[in-house]
Amino acid sequence: SRRAAPAKFGSALDALRTVFGYDDFRGDQAAIIEQLAGGGDAVVLMPTGGGKSLCYQIPALLREGTGVVVSPLIALMHDQVDALLRNGVRAAYLNSSQAPAERAEVERAYLAGELDLLYIAPERLNSEGAKRFLARGSISLFAIDEAHCVAQWGHDFRPDYLALAELAERWPEVPRIALTATATEATHREITERLSLGDAKHFVASFDRPNIQYRIAPKLELRKQLLDFVRTEGVDADGRPVAGIVYALSRASTEKIAAFLAANGVDAMPYHAGLDPELRRRTQDRFLREDGVVVVATIAFGMGIDKPDVRFVAHVDLPKSVEGYYQETGRAGRDGLPSTTWLAYGLQDVVQQRRMIDESPGDLAHRRRLASHLDAMLALCETVQCRRQNLLAYFGEQSEPCRNCDTCLEPPASWDGTVVAQKFLSTVVRLQRERGQRYGAGHLIDILRGKRTPRVAQYGHDSLATWGIGQELGEQQWRGVVRQLLAQGLAQTVGEYGVIGLSEASAEVLAGARQVHFRAEPERPGRSRGERR
Ligand code: ADP
Ligand code: ZN
Repeated sequence: SRRAAPAKFGSALDALRTVFGYDDFRGDQAAIIEQLAGGGDAVVLMPTGGGKSLCYQIPALLREGTGVVVSPLIALMHDQVDALLRNGVRAAYLNSSQAPAERAEVERAYLAGELDLLYIAPERLNSEGAKRFLARGSISLFAIDEAHCVAQWGHDFRPDYLALAELAERWPEVPRIALTATATEATHREITERLSLGDAKHFVASFDRPNIQYRIAPKLELRKQLLDFVRTEGVDADGRPVAGIVYALSRASTEKIAAFLAANGVDAMPYHAGLDPELRRRTQDRFLREDGVVVVATIAFGMGIDKPDVRFVAHVDLPKSVEGYYQETGRAGRDGLPSTTWLAYGLQDVVQQRRMIDESPGDLAHRRRLASHLDAMLALCETVQCRRQNLLAYFGEQSEPCRNCDTCLEPPASWDGTVVAQKFLSTVVRLQRERGQRYGAGHLIDILRGKRTPRVAQYGHDSLATWGIGQELGEQQWRGVVRQLLAQGLAQTVGEYGVIGLSEASAEVLAGARQVHFRAEPERPGRSRGERR
C-alpha cells in the first residue's frame, strides 16, 4: 500500500510551521535552506544545539526525491528517524543493525519514491552495491553530518568519510550540504577540499555558548573537589538535584567515581561501552526522563542524546583536544539556561596523555597531530586570560572577555616569569650546542637547581654557565614552569617525546623582547600522590 505523498509546502517557512511546529527560523537556517532548495551546495559550521538538522530536512521536503543523510552514529540515526516519523515526515534508515526484511522494506520504499529522508552510515554508502542501489531512485540532496570526520588533522577522523568525495562525481547535479559542530579553520578547509565543496556557500555561526560558564581547576584532591562541585552546581535554586554528566577517561574510573558520588548521596550511575546493554539503556532512560540524575561516563555518552536541561558537565581527566572539550561541555545547557562546566587537571594528566601519544599506533605525523591537540588544550587550561576568549580564538573567532568564566570572575594571580624563562631557555640553548644530545625537563631542572646527578657528572653539565642559577624555585615549581612554557608555546617538545627544544617564540624571550607571565600554582600541602613520574 503506497503511502500518500505529503501536502506540498508553499515555502520553507510553511514547512517549518506545519511539519515541525516552530514559529521562525534561527540564525542562518533560512539562508542555508534557500541555498540548498535552489540546488546549491553548502558548508555549515554551527555549534551543537544550533539547529543543523532542519537545514537539510526542510530542503528535502521541498525538493523532488529523497534526501540522503550520511550519519556516523547508528543510535543517533534511530532517534532522528523516530522524531521525524512523529512529525509525519517519511523517514527511514539503512544500517547494519537491521533485520533483512526491515531493510528490504526500506529499499522498496526508497525506490518507490516514498521517502523524504534516508539515513545511511558512511561505510555502507561507500559500497558499490549501495551506490548502484541509490542510483536507481531519485535523490533530492546529500547531507553529510559530522563532516569534521573527513578531516585528517581533526580529532575524530574516520577514513570512510574520505570516499564521500565521490558523491560529487557520481551525482554532480545533486546539491550537497556538509555540517559540523567543530570549527577550527583547518577543519573547515579540509571539509571543503576533501568533499569537493569548492563551489559551496559557507555558513559559519558563532560558537559562543554564552549561558555556559567555563571553569578549570588544578587537580588537588579530586574526589573532594568533585563532590564540592556537584553539591553546589548539582542543585537548582530550590535545592532540588539537577541533571549532570561527569566525564572520565577510563571505564574503571567511571565506576569508581559513580560509586563514590552515590555513597555521598548523589544519584549517580556509571555509563561505558563495557556495561550490559540493558543496564546502559536503563541508565540512559533514567537520565533522560528523571530530574537530578548524574551519569559518570566515558566520552561516548551524550552523543546524539538530546537532553536540553543538562545543567553541568564535569571532566575529571584532561580532554585530548579543545574540539573534544568544546563538544563535551557543549552538552550542557542546550536549553539556553545557565549551566556550568568544570575541569580538573594535573601534571599527571599531561604525563599520561603524552605517554599515550607516544605509544599510539600510526606515523610521526599522526603523533604530532595528537600532540598539537593536547598543547592547545593545555594552553586553555593554563591561560590567565578569559577561557571563553581563548576557546573561541581557537575556532578563529575574536571576542571580548566574557565575565562568565573562572578567570574573568576571579582573575588568577600571575607572576613575572621572564627571568626564570630566560634561565631555562638559555640552558636549552647551551645543551643544543652538544651534537646529538637531547634532554628532557628533569635533566634541565637538575642543571638549573645545581643537582649533581650521575647524568650531570657524565656530561660535565656542572660546568655550564647556567649550572645552579635556578635555585630560587623548587623542583615542583620548575615543573610547573616547564609545563606552562610548553603550554604557551615558548618551548616545545621535539622529536621523540620528552625532549625539550626551542620554539620560534623562544628567541624573543631570550632576547628580552617578550615578557613571560605564569599563572601562580596553588599551594600544595606536601607532594600529592600521583603527581610525580
Ligand atoms: P544540532 O544538530 O545543531 O545540534 P538540532 O538540529 O538537534 O541541533 O537542534 C537543536 C534543537 O533545537 C532541537 O530540539 C530542535 O528541534 C530545535 N530547533 C531547531 N531549529 C529550531 C527553530 N527554528 N525554532 C525552534 N527550535 C528549533
Ligand atoms: Zn571569561
